[in-house]
Amino acid sequence: MDNLTNINVIKEILSKHGFSFSRALGQNFLINPSVCPRIAEMGSAQKGWGVLEIGAGVGVLTRELALRADKVVSVEIDGRLIPVLEETLADCGNVTVINEDVMKADLSAIIAEHFPKLKVAVCANLPYYITSPIIMNLLESRLPIECITVMVQKEAGVRLCAEPGTREAGAVSAAVRYYAEPKMLFNVSRGSFMPAPNVDSCVIRLDVKKEPAVKVSDEKLYFRVVRGAFSQRRKTLGNSLSSALGISKSEAAEAIRAAGLPENIRPEQLRLDDFAAVSEHLKEAAESCIKERPRLI
Ligand code: SAM
Repeated sequence: MDNLTNINVIKEILSKHGFSFSRALGQNFLINPSVCPRIAEMGSAQKGWGVLEIGAGVGVLTRELALRADKVVSVEIDGRLIPVLEETLADCGNVTVINEDVMKADLSAIIAEHFPKLKVAVCANLPYYITSPIIMNLLESRLPIECITVMVQKEAGVRLCAEPGTREAGAVSAAVRYYAEPKMLFNVSRGSFMPAPNVDSCVIRLDVKKEPAVKVSDEKLYFRVVRGAFSQRRKTLGNSLSSALGISKSEAAEAIRAAGLPENIRPEQLRLDDFAAVSEHLKEAAESCIKERPRLI
């Protein structure tokens, strides 16, 4: 079924299936006809590629991906949309819809089964309630994917693409850059969706690196240092690390000095290699003291 950006067409098919939008699932469907083709083209949906989509909705982006890529798999959590998608994607022979929560799905098995011999891209208009967890899950799982092109809330996009060492940077900026090279592609206004959200959006692309951006001997500690550093943004790095990692202020200060950084440095001033250096020195100085803390990204 074509014309899935036409509001009347969407309303008709949704009411036929008795569907009502769930805010909790971040259901804001795209109705601006220019956006999905751009996501598909800029997201490497093309011959020789398989595309994993997260959240099909009524299938508006799915169709654009299917037009261009060899194979598309869309993971959609909302079972009420499955009969809708059976109708809207009936003429797309290269699409498989899987009714699962993307955070629980075995993405590695899905990729192996559906995309043999294909390069793999992820494309999605992400549900905003779970943007960073989905992106970090994709990156941390070290899936064989080349790139991730996603629509996210504007502020989240700025943060995800921020260069560590700049004001906009947060823990997620440093985490993303460890695995990928981010790029801001274009902005999308709130009026491009039904129902319209209260915020504007943007599309970003993350090109996954073959090797992490910096070498660290203990990856887990590196990420705890990154998260710990930003756990209290207004504090100095030393104070944040001391409370987040459960080490003394002098141990934190010693690691910061040994990394060649000023003691009163703030977390947003650190580049990736600074985080790596601090985590290496913390490992030497305080391995036994660092307690497990909950994840903050
Ligand atoms: N791709 C469609 C579009 O652009 O119009 C829908 C995008 S809508 C912002 C997000 C979609 O993700 C919804 O269909 C929602 O049901 C689905 N979703 C929400 N949480 C999910 C999860 N944990 N796993 C898979 N899909 C999810």
